Amino acid sequence: MRHPPRVLIVEDESSIAELIAVNLRHNGLTPIWAEDGESAQREIDTILPDIILLDWMLPGQSGVTLAKRWRADPRVKSVPIVMLTARSDESDKVSGLDAGADDYITKPFSTQELLARIRAVLRRRAPEQALDTVTVGDLTLDGATYRVNFRDVALKIGPTEFKLLNYLMRHAERVHSRSQLLDKIWGDHVFIEERTVDVHVKRLRESLGAAGPMIETVRGAGYRFTAQVQIADAA
Ligand code: CA
Repeated sequence: MRHPPRVLIVEDESSIAELIAVNLRHNGLTPIWAEDGESAQREIDTILPDIILLDWMLPGQSGVTLAKRWRADPRVKSVPIVMLTARSDESDKVSGLDAGADDYITKPFSTQELLARIRAVLRRRAPEQALDTVTVGDLTLDGATYRVNFRDVALKIGPTEFKLLNYLMRHAERVHSRSQLLDKIWGDHVFIEERTVDVHVKRLRESLGAAGPMIETVRGAGYRFTAQVQIADAA
């Protein structure tokens, strides 16, 4: 399961930050508050957030400067940014979006409006899960019903392993590095260690039973799902 989305609020006015944080928490999101660019950077260095709400007018570096910097940083680049501003000038909106913001919201805004923007941005960034059926060799996966069958026998597979299998089967016979799999399965803004991939691959192989060898480890490169393996007939 994915963790609740972490929302980094970069806002120097504590009353506004607090109001946003309370509402986000109430709606199942995890808010983190930073009052300026420096502390926001520290938070980002520790755990990459899923989305950044960035105030325009901040002490020290402005929101626009920060947005530009994060867009140029390979690690932070893909984290969506929503700019918050008291100014409703069209030219400001343009420079905010030019700086790399994904969206822009003018103060005062309603909680509903803010949540709608956050959800829309997160949805756009979430990795896609194909929902139709895919078959590789004797293995069939149905993305809509979450069923996996091997030689007409249903297999039990956990949710993350299912996503992983879904992706691997749709990109069979190709080698995927751990970091590519992290991006595709967990999303490009989730910061987890690469060995997490190994743990899920191991579990997936176990769940696949006789079909487990279809996931090959390619030394120094990653993993490949293949139909080109000999699979023993089930006894
Ligand atoms: Ca401010």
